[in-house]
Amino acid sequence: MKIIDAYSLSNILSTLEKEEKIKTLKKYDVITTATFAVISAVSFIFELKFAPPGRYKYVQEAYIENDKVLVGPAPNEGLGILDGIINRPSFLDKLLKKEKVSVLIKAIDYENKIDFINFKVLKKDFLYSKLLFTRVCVKNYMAFVSEKKEKTIFSYDYLDKGEITFSGCGVLNPLEIFNIKEGEKVFIAGTWGLVLGPGTRSSKEKPNLSVLVDFKNVDRKFFGSFKQKSSLEFYVGMGYKKNLKNFDKKEMDNILTKSMKNIKLPIAKVQGRQVIDFSNYKEAWNGDLKLKFNKNHCHNCSTCLIEEYCPAQAFSKEEGFLDNCLYCGICLKLCPFGAILGCLGKIKNYKIKMRHSSLYRALEICKLLKDFTYS
Ligand code: SF4
Ligand code: SF4
Repeated sequence: MKIIDAYSLSNILSTLEKEEKIKTLKKYDVITTATFAVISAVSFIFELKFAPPGRYKYVQEAYIENDKVLVGPAPNEGLGILDGIINRPSFLDKLLKKEKVSVLIKAIDYENKIDFINFKVLKKDFLYSKLLFTRVCVKNYMAFVSEKKEKTIFSYDYLDKGEITFSGCGVLNPLEIFNIKEGEKVFIAGTWGLVLGPGTRSSKEKPNLSVLVDFKNVDRKFFGSFKQKSSLEFYVGMGYKKNLKNFDKKEMDNILTKSMKNIKLPIAKVQGRQVIDFSNYKEAWNGDLKLKFNKNHCHNCSTCLIEEYCPAQAFSKEEGFLDNCLYCGICLKLCPFGAILGCLGKIKNYKIKMRHSSLYRALEICKLLKDFTYS
């Protein structure tokens, strides 16, 4: 079975005439696509045993680490089980690193007395744990610039005049090629996830997906928190593959015509998000997809600024880049001794300050999809 990712295929096809394109395409059986990006919309839905049955009437409040639990939706604390939801949870990295997290529960017993129950749990202690991604795989991302130095979620800290940040993997994004429907399975966060349909703020021009995943199987290499100075975000990798014989007409047109160069990248001001210009994904990804760590330039600082401030905790001065790194480029500025080598390039005349997507990691998912089964 011959398998190729949409990025490599579009590079080959864009050099050919129409008839040659079809002949070349027919040499392949399966096309893979993927995206790896910083996202916001994640909820943690869980069930946790906290007391023997019959001891408490209900839970009034609960926290995991410092995150408040929305108790319910089907309270059954009489059984000593808490079920709840936390939006944008801050503690998932700890669970994924096999560390314990603290749980604090304010429970009311059958004599209306209040009890505070404090204990620690591991990932495996949750009876049920799912991640709900309400907006992933966004097609048609944007690039952002600023008129003046401004704190924004579109940059790790500030975006200065003359700098630009962007998101998106261009032609490799699954929704650039495929019409992924409700009920289908995708690769996400290192395991398979169930597509629930379009996500929040999804539109015809800017579609995205909503996906449910079993947290027990999530791998930190493909999902974790991305802590910028002004916000807590997450990184996630998602992939999708399809046999060419199952392509519909629109998907066939997409694979034959789309390329990094002809997918527009709107450039907007962070102030008001007004679009002021357009680039394309070929220009956006003209820098190095991967960065390098030059250990010879490393001064082995007592506090490594990359270990301290990397938004994904993806660097160690001993090992260099860890396998969850998304090559965002922030460490190029963090290390004062130039131990990180690489160039992010430019879009128009703006210097790319950081990337909120990783084409390198998306291509890595495409390779992995070769042998991946959605079960
Ligand atoms: S900040 Fe740079 S030089 Fe210092 S330990 Fe980290 S990588 Fe090495
Ligand atoms: S590129 Fe640097 S700052 Fe960005 S995730 Fe990787 S190690 Fe962290």
